Amino acid sequence: MPDVLPWSPLGAGLLLAPGPEAETLPDFRQEYPEVAPPDSAALVDVLRRADLRGRGGAGFPAWRKIEAVVSRRPDGPVAVVANGEEGEPASCKDRYLLRHRPHLVLEGLEIVRRALVADAAYVYVSDELGRDRVLAAIAERGLLGIEVFLAPRGYVSGEESAVVRALDGGPALPTQKPPRPFESGVGQRPTAVMNVETLARACRLWTAAALDQDPPVDLLMLTLLDPDQVVLTEVPAGTTLREVARQALGLDVSPGTPVLSGGFFSGFLPDVALDAPLDFDGFRRLGTGVGCGSFIFLPGACPVDVATDVMAFFDRENAHQCGSCFKGTAAMHQALERIGLGTQQDTDVANLERWTRTLPGRGSCATLDGAACLARTLLTQFAGVVERHATVPCAQCAAAAERADPDTRFRVPAP
Ligand code: SF4
Repeated sequence: MPDVLPWSPLGAGLLLAPGPEAETLPDFRQEYPEVAPPDSAALVDVLRRADLRGRGGAGFPAWRKIEAVVSRRPDGPVAVVANGEEGEPASCKDRYLLRHRPHLVLEGLEIVRRALVADAAYVYVSDELGRDRVLAAIAERGLLGIEVFLAPRGYVSGEESAVVRALDGGPALPTQKPPRPFESGVGQRPTAVMNVETLARACRLWTAAALDQDPPVDLLMLTLLDPDQVVLTEVPAGTTLREVARQALGLDVSPGTPVLSGGFFSGFLPDVALDAPLDFDGFRRLGTGVGCGSFIFLPGACPVDVATDVMAFFDRENAHQCGSCFKGTAAMHQALERIGLGTQQDTDVANLERWTRTLPGRGSCATLDGAACLARTLLTQFAGVVERHATVPCAQCAAAAERADPDTRFRVPAP
């Protein structure tokens, strides 16, 4: 079970002091008094000035998504979805919020719903305890018109077009774009699909603005893993990962340590990013990503073994809809397995390198991009290690091939 470590010296955030139960409405109201809801222009202005980014993984500006739906409102009704389907195995922040702070998520959803004048609102969640606590919170508030949808678990179930498809009665699998959900979403209404942490942050920002308070410090919820522990914490944007690892995990990260960045999506973190401020645009410029805020520190691990494990996950969990994706992830997985076991074919490394350039952008969703990024960052950051596997047997890769549990070792439970 993850430890919950509020970064308390730097201000109140979204994490509560550790405890098993959901926050009650009276407790929530102590911190978040009822305020008048915003109109769309006021909400967009507050979120834009705070540069609130979507916290589901893409880091897309939240205000742009709202503005895109608002601009289509003259054409007919619109909808909003609180997306709590946390497909990244190494993340637990969204389930934490749904389980422990359902009122915060619901208040954020209500703020956006009222600003959009949306005629439909949904909470989309695969965690049953989270679902139950959201339903209890809706009953406690007497809220009407919010549908809580229990989604199937899966890496792609929370992708925004998969969310729309599932809410419309189809499978929770991505669709071709365009149209994107903000153009045509649930029931063909323009739909703002918003991650639950994003909604919680929107609530925090709007409440402060409505009370004429200074904007709150921008914080990020992070799920941090090392081989012995999982910590859910919250840090100010701009903190360095090296500092976060030291404070939260007690870990001094040495050069060359494999670190998976942004869950599985951004591959191996370049060393230089350890000392860069945690920031969506800055990390992107370094060729990596903050993603959903999950970072896996693996001192002593063989990066080929780690990449093979994660690629096996992509191979299993892709939606088997796009030929480039299911064939590409399978081929990359097989090539990595051979490299790990020292049985590689002459073309394996060259093929991997070529696929990292040719596969991105060819799937209906970003899963294939994540898989290609994993292979690319393995080859660029650990070229010597990959080469050594051709001549020196790797005990870790050999042991991994015997692993009985086919699931990834990085899947974390929610606190
Ligand atoms: S890119 Fe992969 S995961 Fe995404 S829809 Fe296509 S097959 Fe599914």
